[in-house]
Amino acid sequence: MSTIFSKIIAREIPADIVYEDDLVLAFRDIAPQAPVHILIIPKQEIATVNDVSSGDEAAMGRLFTVAAKIASAEGIAKSGYRLIVNCNEDGGQEVFHLHMHILGGRRLGPMLAKR
Ligand code: AMP
Repeated sequence: MSTIFSKIIAREIPADIVYEDDLVLAFRDIAPQAPVHILIIPKQEIATVNDVSSGDEAAMGRLFTVAAKIASAEGIAKSGYRLIVNCNEDGGQEVFHLHMHILGGRRLGPMLAKR
C-alpha cells in the first residue's frame, strides 16, 4: 500500500527536500520535534523494518551514510544527534514506508519518554 511518502518521491505533494540520490530521498519533517528534524526514506517502498530483506542492504546502508552527510551539512555532526527508526504500533510508527528520523540541534534528553 502506497503512503504519503511515495507521493513525495513522485513529487505529487510538496516537501522540503534536502537530499536525493538513486536509492534514498531526505526531506524535513512536517512537524519537527527538534531544530533539525529530517526524514530519510528508501525510494523503494518498504513498509517496516520487519519487511527489510538482504536485497535492501544497499539502501539500508545508504540511510546511514546519508544521515552522516546531512548531519554535517546541518551543522550538528559535532554537537550530536539521534537516529530513530520506529516499527509498528509499539514503536510508534505512523507512516508505513520505512524511514529514519535525524533529530538534533538541541540536547534531546533521555532516549525514551518515562512511562
Ligand atoms: P513515524 O511515527 O516514525 O512513522 O514518523 C512519521 C513522521 O512523518 C512524523 O514525524 C510526521 O511528522 C512525518 N510526516 C508525516 N507526513 C509528512 C509530510 N507530508 N511531510 C513531511 N513529514 C511528514
